Amino acid sequence: MPNVGSHDIRKIIFDNFNDTDVRFSNDEILGYLNQIDKYKELDDVLDFGDALLEMEKSGMLRPIAQNFNTRYYRLWNTLEQATCKACGFSTYFAPNEEGEACPQCGAKM
Ligand SMILES: [Zn+2]
Repeated sequence: MPNVGSHDIRKIIFDNFNDTDVRFSNDEILGYLNQIDKYKELDDVLDFGDALLEMEKSGMLRPIAQNFNTRYYRLWNTLEQATCKACGFSTYFAPNEEGEACPQCGAKM
C-alpha cells in the first residue's frame, strides 16, 4: 500500500484544522488527501495510520475518540511553519515537537 507523506498530512491540518479547539478525524484528512492529484491517481487505499501514530508519539496529535475505523483528534499546540536550514523545504511542526526531521532531506529541523 502506498504511504502518504507526513508533510501532506501536516499541511492539511495546518490549512484546515490549526486550532486546539477543533476536532478532526482521519476520515476528514482522507477527504483532503483525495483532492491531491498524486493521491487521486492511485487506485489503492491510502495508508496513513502509521504517520498519524508517529504524530501522536511526537506530541502533535491528541487522540480523543475512536468509533470503529474513525479516529478523532485535536492538536496539543497549533502548528507553525518551519523551513529546513539544509534544503529550504518548508513544512509544519508543533512547537513542542523536538528533533523532528525534514521530510525532504532528513536533516534535523
Ligand atoms: Zn531539508
